[in-house]
Amino acid sequence: MNVLITGYEVSPFFKRGGLGDVMGSLPKALKKINVDCRVVVPCYIEMQENANGKRIGEFYLHFDDKEEKVGVYKSYLPDSNCVVYFLSNRPILSHINLRGRNKKIDQFAFFSLAVVHFIAWLNSNEKWEVDLIHCNDWHTALIPLILKNKIKIPIPTLLTIHNLSYQGFGSRKVLDLLHFKNEETKGLKREIPAKEIDILGEGILHATKVSTVSPNYALEIMKEEHRHREIYAYLRKREAILGEKDEIIGILNGIDYEVWNPEKDNNLFKKYNTSDWEIGKKAAKEKILKSFSLKSRPTFCFIGRMAAQKGIEMLIKVVKTIVQLDANLIFLGSGDPNIEKSVKRIAQKYPDNIRAEVIYNEELSHKLYAASDFILIPSHFEPCGLIQMIAMRYGAIPIAAKTGGLKDSIVNGKDGFLFEKDKSTRLRRSIKHALVIKKDKSRYGKMVQRAMRKDFSWDKSAALYKKLYGKMIV
Ligand code: ADP
Repeated sequence: MNVLITGYEVSPFFKRGGLGDVMGSLPKALKKINVDCRVVVPCYIEMQENANGKRIGEFYLHFDDKEEKVGVYKSYLPDSNCVVYFLSNRPILSHINLRGRNKKIDQFAFFSLAVVHFIAWLNSNEKWEVDLIHCNDWHTALIPLILKNKIKIPIPTLLTIHNLSYQGFGSRKVLDLLHFKNEETKGLKREIPAKEIDILGEGILHATKVSTVSPNYALEIMKEEHRHREIYAYLRKREAILGEKDEIIGILNGIDYEVWNPEKDNNLFKKYNTSDWEIGKKAAKEKILKSFSLKSRPTFCFIGRMAAQKGIEMLIKVVKTIVQLDANLIFLGSGDPNIEKSVKRIAQKYPDNIRAEVIYNEELSHKLYAASDFILIPSHFEPCGLIQMIAMRYGAIPIAAKTGGLKDSIVNGKDGFLFEKDKSTRLRRSIKHALVIKKDKSRYGKMVQRAMRKDFSWDKSAALYKKLYGKMIV
């Protein structure tokens, strides 16, 4: 079974969120169960610097009105024999942070076309025949359409949706860059204005199979029409074409147990496991609090992208309670400038209890997971969420909104706390309750141990992907 997995980021070479973690860990888990999977991603400058890939060839493709050269680099995921290919094209693929929605969709249309051409290149140059392409999120969601209507290669495609709120929405002119003729795009469904395209929506319609990253999110997206109205229409249309049996499958993400392991983590001041967690976490907390000039108190953390989805405004509403309860709150995150500003403002208002690290810092994230007593995850929606899984592995109890994958991975009162989503009064109540539990050493200790022992490795979920691939490859 030869599976080519593609997406826009792959940890540890380039990562901005959970998709990067998945792209860097699922392939290794699949390899262990004899799926020959390889990864292909764009070659941004940072990606190339971090991966130090070897140039193994090139090919040409026609995009817009030019013949474009695509360089192929090869490397491996660390500590594995899992191949990663990087496709490079200086003008188009060197930088990810292109401004303007059409620039971004044009960039990933180019990458998607390059991946399709790469299939033939792999066959002749690496003697590796692709049996299935596993696309992830909107960035690679044009691949099924290109394969079906343009460069007709009968390879099944799985599209995994990691987050429905990023859809790759923009001008339909992108199809001209790919030289789609009118008759080849006639079948495109219009759930949106005539001159626009919703790339994720097209992926949903044209992929052989669609999956998402938790069973609960799979259920939610089929009923929560108000949030992503256009996408909901695409999902319904797919259901109408293929019948109800073609359900959207939800497979819970896992985390990389080599990367996220307090027993082996070199970022920590003191490594620890389920027996000596108290010593390890105490050391981590002391160091962190000292470095932030915070007093030794119960410590809450928020780690994550500063995006509307993450419900940070609810945290800001409960900050006063946290201060009154004599606890600390540390933010680590970056993203939306307005959210960043309000987080910085609240940290300035309460300098004795609140800190805001408005940066992306992988090393600090490891230290904070270890140092935290509780991790706050007030997301309005969360397709899967890895933060709660990593937190639990490091013995930090998650206090999370009851939504999406958070609901699938936390058992309320046993290994974490779930509160009714979108309600800051419920969040406040959970915070107070968590602090009461923390005072009961034996009860809190049992919760920490249960959380740390929970299995979030990829083993189970990789087997589910293998089964799904098997059904799709005929
Ligand atoms: P999403 O994919 O929506 O960003 P996830 O919970 O699935 O959320 O994954 C977030 C991943 O990104 C985790 O590995 C988390 O530790 C990491 N992360 C997010 N923000 C930061 C940051 N500012 N610094 C370091 N790591 C971060």
